[in-house]
Amino acid sequence: MNRQGHIGMAILAGSAVLYVTPALSILPAGVLIAAAGIGGLLPDLDHKTSTVSNKLQFSAKMRKQLKGLSALSLAMGILWFVLEQPMPWLWAAAGLIFTLASRLRMLLLSGLGLLLLAGYELYNLHWLILLTGAALLVMPFVKHRGIIHSPEFASALSLGVISFTATQPVLFQALGLGLLAGWWSHLVGDAVTVEGIRSVLLPRLKVALNLLRNGGAGERWIARSCWLCSIALWLTIFY
Ligand SMILES: [Zn+2]
Repeated sequence: MNRQGHIGMAILAGSAVLYVTPALSILPAGVLIAAAGIGGLLPDLDHKTSTVSNKLQFSAKMRKQLKGLSALSLAMGILWFVLEQPMPWLWAAAGLIFTLASRLRMLLLSGLGLLLLAGYELYNLHWLILLTGAALLVMPFVKHRGIIHSPEFASALSLGVISFTATQPVLFQALGLGLLAGWWSHLVGDAVTVEGIRSVLLPRLKVALNLLRNGGAGERWIARSCWLCSIALWLTIFY
């Protein structure tokens, strides 16, 4: 499922959670719905060119150019070194910067992951930080629809978010609930496509209902229907 379908389903999932949650005022309700929309896209951080991944990196063309510049800088550095010109390492440093820029997504995800792991270690934070940090750290290196799309990871994340937000103000609880609603709706959305989702512990356990083609007309209809149902739910909640 692509962005359109995932957002629609996530908004509907968030609206359904809102419907069964004891009356929230408008601000936490809005936070819950917005968080659901974001949560519905987050699992595809494990995809190199998904909507959410593309927010963290330069365009494909730019990445290619950066890689070219990096190779060029490195070659210049070697030339400078061989010709005994001053400061050949400046070229090498430039090459490294170009390489890092071409891999910005990896740098941001793994960097944030390491930061969270350090925070967990140094400040004795909740284990949700450990889980999130570890997931972000490995995100650029795991395969799409692997561990991050597994029901096991979603279950651990749910336990973490619920136990962490239980003691927090209502706004945080709304944020956590929304994220989880969006996250699970994403798995449901992927489970109805031919690629499906699978368990990490029991890789044979796979749900691929093959009801929907990625990005097809069916998905557009589902997205529209989800939005309509969500609006109907909001009307019943707030009037
Ligand atoms: Zn997905």
